[in-house]
Amino acid sequence: MRRIIPLFLCAALSAGAASTLAAEATGKTAPIDTVFPQGPVNPYSQFFTGTSYLTMLSNNDDTFNAPIGNVTFEPGTRTFWHKHSGGQILLILAGEGRYCERGKEVQIIKKGDVVRIAPNVEHWHGAGPDTWMTHISVETNVPNNQATWLEPVADAEYR
Ligand code: MN
Repeated sequence: MRRIIPLFLCAALSAGAASTLAAEATGKTAPIDTVFPQGPVNPYSQFFTGTSYLTMLSNNDDTFNAPIGNVTFEPGTRTFWHKHSGGQILLILAGEGRYCERGKEVQIIKKGDVVRIAPNVEHWHGAGPDTWMTHISVETNVPNNQATWLEPVADAEYR
């Protein structure tokens, strides 16, 4: 099963999220400093295992072509395997998480780390099993950048 969606749809779905100061009633409040507002539950949760939150910090438009979002992951939460046709850069703001590219070892990511994900490299990112993690996602090479979502990350791969 594969689904391809344009990344800039994030912007439309999360309009107004930047003014949300706390998670909605359905979510938890991160015990770490998310720096930017945690925002509501991620509207792309169908491509994640667990619960994450999304605040768009800069919506995409034709002037900047640079959608920038803040994503907060509850412990145990991670994306499905996926790839970005134009690549992605992650700026880790707080907490401790995990990053993995297909065929490689899982890496621990922490506050201050920068993860540069080349176009079309299959990967996943998320929290640690027992730790929250917040990162900024910068979509690169917009507007020719589409995400392709693949299978969930199995518990055995994650741990
Ligand atoms: Mn990614």
